[in-house]
Amino acid sequence: MRPDGTVIDKAALRRKYLEERDKRLRPDGNDQYQRLTGRFAHYLADPHTPRTEREPRTDDCTVVFIGGGFAGLVTGARLKEAGVEDVRIIEKGGDFGGTWYWNRYPGAQCDTASMVYMPLLEETGHMPTEKYAHGPEILEHCRRIGKQFGLYEDALFHTEVTDLRWDGQRARWVVRTDRGDHFTARFVAMGTGPLHVPKLPGIPGIDSFAGHSFHTSRWDYDYTGGDPSGAPMDELADKRVAIIGTGATAVQCVPHLARACRELFVFQRTPSSVDTRGNHPIDPEWFERIATPGWQQRWLENFTANQSGGAADEDLVMDGWTEIARRVRARARTIPKAERTPMTLLAAFEDSDHEKMEEIRARVDAVVTDRATAENLKAWYRQLCKRPCFHDEYLQAFNLPGTHLVDTDGKGVERVTENGVVVAGTEYPVDCIIYASGFEVGTAYTRRAGYDLTGRDGVRLSEYWADGMRTLHGIHVRGFPNAFVVQPTQGANLISNIPHNLTESGRTIAMTIKHALDNGFDEIEVSQEAEDAWVALLLTEPGLMGRSPDCTPGYYNNEGQDSGPRALFNVGYPQGPSAFFRYIDRWRTTGTFDGLEFR
Ligand code: NDP
Repeated sequence: MRPDGTVIDKAALRRKYLEERDKRLRPDGNDQYQRLTGRFAHYLADPHTPRTEREPRTDDCTVVFIGGGFAGLVTGARLKEAGVEDVRIIEKGGDFGGTWYWNRYPGAQCDTASMVYMPLLEETGHMPTEKYAHGPEILEHCRRIGKQFGLYEDALFHTEVTDLRWDGQRARWVVRTDRGDHFTARFVAMGTGPLHVPKLPGIPGIDSFAGHSFHTSRWDYDYTGGDPSGAPMDELADKRVAIIGTGATAVQCVPHLARACRELFVFQRTPSSVDTRGNHPIDPEWFERIATPGWQQRWLENFTANQSGGAADEDLVMDGWTEIARRVRARARTIPKAERTPMTLLAAFEDSDHEKMEEIRARVDAVVTDRATAENLKAWYRQLCKRPCFHDEYLQAFNLPGTHLVDTDGKGVERVTENGVVVAGTEYPVDCIIYASGFEVGTAYTRRAGYDLTGRDGVRLSEYWADGMRTLHGIHVRGFPNAFVVQPTQGANLISNIPHNLTESGRTIAMTIKHALDNGFDEIEVSQEAEDAWVALLLTEPGLMGRSPDCTPGYYNNEGQDSGPRALFNVGYPQGPSAFFRYIDRWRTTGTFDGLEFR
């Protein structure tokens, strides 16, 4: 049923979804994008912190963590709490923050509620100011964690690891960096994140553009004026600006650009689904009432249970993510128990999705005044095929007279010239092109990390994972003693709130390392049997809809290309995130660390 009470023609909708997908499928998949190397390398320069010279390190430390984003911060904090003092974080940016260090575009804001998204709120005593906090507050929170847990003391900023090698004789990792460091570490952990290598579309002529251009993850406030806190971008008042891409980043920055530019041209290949946001300030009195001991853990567990189909009596967060699951559950409950089969449940999921997407499309009609623009802003795919977006000013921006949607009917921008951007043979002359074209996702972990791990017997991580990722809990890898990976895959795989995965991994790793140190063990390694058994268990997972061939292309489904058998391994615990978090808590607190060999 539609919001207006009419019945949805499911067959027609499915046909429309497939037609729209087919327009966008292209044989080059991920290869359509280009890396920011060579003539594009200047796009990667750090606009925030000057690089300072320092002496190379040649010492030995207890734990090295690669990546100073949430993963490094929460693992570092848990290690310090456990009494492991000697923790060195290596970070390519000029400060902590990871994605929040780089992405300072106007309007950057968390899309998952701050109360569960911002890690270690209870430990730091910080009350988020808004239901969905803005970037500067999140970046400041990263610094707060860094300061409170003494993580700045030995951090190496503006430093990239170039080589990481296991020395079995000494039971040490040998670390080399682009700053000439050459030191050893007993343990190494990596949290390099999935979305940190910006990419550009492979559009002909990009380097011929004579105006100014930058990628959203390196916002150039010197050019635009304004600042990350939302000060108006005065320098754009006389400028014609193009933004290429309409994903989650563009959805957040377009309203700010629309207000600032003389004219803004938004080049769209696929519209995002944009649901309501409903942000509001957090009331300190309310916060004081709910922030009783253990509050954030309770909120995390509640969000995860509500969002991922678990059982919870109430919904503390009440946002777009939990609503998706709430709807599916409500719909499934209408099926008599005896008739609940995987088929009927999947059909209920599809029905609830159709209804939600019809609502989202109806919202476009309700908000956007120009009919043709409204039609072009409608997303024709199931909600989880692409990253769902939530915003209360994005669609509205298209009602401003200076904002123009240039829809490319799924084809993308044709060409960039010296003067501007070409679509369907029409050139749009502009002063500036902003690339909101996203980040590398479908490429190998080691390619994105920028180094390859060399483990026992000279085996590289890329070789070991050539046929697909293999771990215990997404953390431990056979043949790579004393190394830990911090990321969601093969663990909870909770995509709607990545920090929950990271804080749990941080806790697990800290307890494991502490156990080794307290008991005089030199090496920790997952046994072959434990890793094999874990991977076998994971492969019983039915698979995610995002991988469905029916979805429109995007990074969720490897740009619509067959990801091959390797992708089968990119899954989470079959019983879901809540069950995984319960399982891993039991696993680490028993103190036996089943499946790990301590030597
Ligand atoms: P995305 O990869 O989601 O978006 C890239 C955009 O560029 C898409 O709209 C894509 O179109 C478009 N594009 C690519 N090539 C062309 C072309 N040739 N012509 C025209 N358009 C083109 O990147 P984002 O930076 O928006 O977001 C990446 C991820 O970062 C998000 O999915 C989310 O996980 C995370 N993020 C999180 C936020 C938060 O939590 N607050 C905020 C912002 C981002 P098409 O869709 O057709 O491929």
